[in-house]
Formats: sequence, structure tokens, C-alpha cells
Amino acid sequence: MFDLNKLVRENVKKLTPYSSARDEFTGEAKVFLDANENSLGSPLPKWYNRYPDPHQQKLKEAIGDIKGIMPQHIFLGNGSDECIDILYRCFCEPQKDNIIICPPTYGMYEVSANINAIEIRKAPLLENFQLDIIHLENLVDENTKLIWICSPNNPTSNSINREDILTVLNNFNGIVVIDEAYINFAKQKTFIQDLIDYPNLIILQTFSKAWGLAALRLGMAFASAEIIAIMSKVKPPYNINQVTQELALKSLENVEQVNDMITELVNMREALREVLMQIAIVENVFESDANFLLVKIREAKKVYAFLASNGIVVRDRSNVQLCDNCLRITIGTENENTLLVDALIQFAYQSVQ
Ligand SMILES: *Cc1c(COP(=O)(O)O)cnc(C)c1O
Repeated sequence: MFDLNKLVRENVKKLTPYSSARDEFTGEAKVFLDANENSLGSPLPKWYNRYPDPHQQKLKEAIGDIKGIMPQHIFLGNGSDECIDILYRCFCEPQKDNIIICPPTYGMYEVSANINAIEIRKAPLLENFQLDIIHLENLVDENTKLIWICSPNNPTSNSINREDILTVLNNFNGIVVIDEAYINFAKQKTFIQDLIDYPNLIILQTFSKAWGLAALRLGMAFASAEIIAIMSKVKPPYNINQVTQELALKSLENVEQVNDMITELVNMREALREVLMQIAIVENVFESDANFLLVKIREAKKVYAFLASNGIVVRDRSNVQLCDNCLRITIGTENENTLLVDALIQFAYQSVQ
């Protein structure tokens, strides 16, 4: 049986969270002399002299409307990266608990676990980039608190089979985190609707990819109200700054534009995949559910260096498990994709000379 109370760290259970000045006051305030802000203003427009809403209420309501979920099921972080760190600090006792990742996958699960002194156990993906369920279940012990599943996965670009994720959710009494940073580019649908059936499920999404707002640093976690309450207790009070809250709210008025960009990027992804597969040195371009392609290419390291010398930066993943000779390439603009393809053709041509 899933028992959230058993998963939360003792110090977090006992914690009295920081209470901000604005938290302790209810009513209609006209005069704010409670938070030692600069009452005279700032060089910037009005209101930036004030601390932002620590609960991000308006923003959560707007996100909730779009995602079909209530604000009490939403946590906002300074990027998904902050959500990852906060999950460790809520549930994992340093030097004692462990977590499971399925490499090759997003690097921050491991870095953040190391920062927090949490043991990392690894159940590598199978050759087809799907979960090794048996290995995964063998790694679980009484100190396993979190299992990370990235779907679509970075850097392999595929979605993880829904049935396999459900198997993990049904058989693990700790918390399963599904990182859906790339879900908007996928054929597979989000697990948000499944929150109602799985109290052990947390879903991460972000404004950094489909929304095109990596600079704002805004990540989202969706989970039960109980899990969200614990995360909110642990977060720094003003983790989402005023500018990010305002601009994210504004961007949410333009969902259509975002959907158009997603459609365009998906079309460009498929077109670029076709073109890349025609190039002699390209051995495989894996089917992608994300806004990037994993490209298996002859002499990947040399190709990487050649592209770099032409001012084109891609991600060298050739040293990564299961990604031998692979480069991870983000879908660019039409012009950027053309520059990439031209450079690869030039390299291929030179290497047969
Ligand atoms: C890019 C990415 C993120 C986004 O992180 P932010 O901190 O929100 O920018 C999260 N997870 C994965 C797998 C990613 O590739």
C-alpha cells in the first residue's frame, strides 16, 4: 500500500515553513510596511519594489485552466531543475535512501541526487530504449523513494511505453516521477489524467521547450494535493520571481501561437529526419517524439568537431550508454537546419575523398 507519510523525511514532517509577511496578513491592505521593501520605488516601473506572490496563485489558476487541473495540484519551480532538487529534499534522506534512474537519460536526476548525497541505482534502458522492468524491480528495496522516468526521453527521443509506466506505477510503493519536458511534441498523451488513480505519481513539465521560454526558468510539477503541500513547504518562499510570473501569465494568453509552433517543429523534425537519413555517413536517425533528433553517425566525434569549427553546436552523446556514435541535434529554424545539413554533406563528401 502507498503511504505518503512513510516517504516524507522526518525533518520535513516536523518543519514549520517560513511564513512570509504577506502570508500572515488577511484583509484589504493599503499600506505595506511589513517586508522592508523600498517604499519609494525603483528605477523600473512601479510594483517591482514588492516581493512577488509566494503562492503564484494567478499563474497556477491560468496553468490549471489549460491543463484541466486545480491549482492545489500544481507546484511551480525555478525550472524543472528546482522541482527535481526539491523532490530529493522532501523524500530522500541523505546517506540512507536511494533513487532509480534509467540511463541514458536527463543528467540532472543524477547531479541533483549527488548534491543531496542520495544513492543512485541504475536500470539502463533496453536496446529499444524501453524500460527494463525486471531489472528495475530488482533494484527496489525499502529505502527506494523515487523512480525517474523521462518520457519522451532525453537523449533517446522516444516515448516510454504507457503499459510499462503503468506497471511501475502499480507495483512500486514509492513515488514515480514522469518527466514530460517534451510531451507537447509527442504522439503519446500526458499522464496528468492518471493523477486521480495514482497517489504515487508526480508529473514534471516545463516552459523551457514547447513554450519557448527557457530564459524565464519556470517548471511545473503536477501531483496529489498532499504531495504539492509538502513540496510547497520546502521551497524557498519567493522561488518564482515577479517578472517570470507576469510574462508566463501573458504567454498563456497565446496558446494558439504555441500550438502552431509545435506543429511546425514536428513537421520540420520529420522533414529533417528524412533528409539526414539520405546522407552517406548517417547510420540511423531514431524516431523522435521530441524537438530533437538522436543521430547515429560514422565518426561522431570528428563530425562534432567539424560542425563546431563551422560554428554549429550540437550535443555529443557518443560516450553515453546505448548512444555509441550518436549526436543529439535540436530542431532549428529552416535556415539553421539547412546550414546543418550542408555542413554534414560537406563532411561526408570530404571523408570519401
Ligand atoms: C530540458 C529538460 C528539462 C527542463 O528543465 P528546466 O529546468 O525546466 O529548463 C527537464 N527535463 C528534461 C528531460 C529536459 O530535457
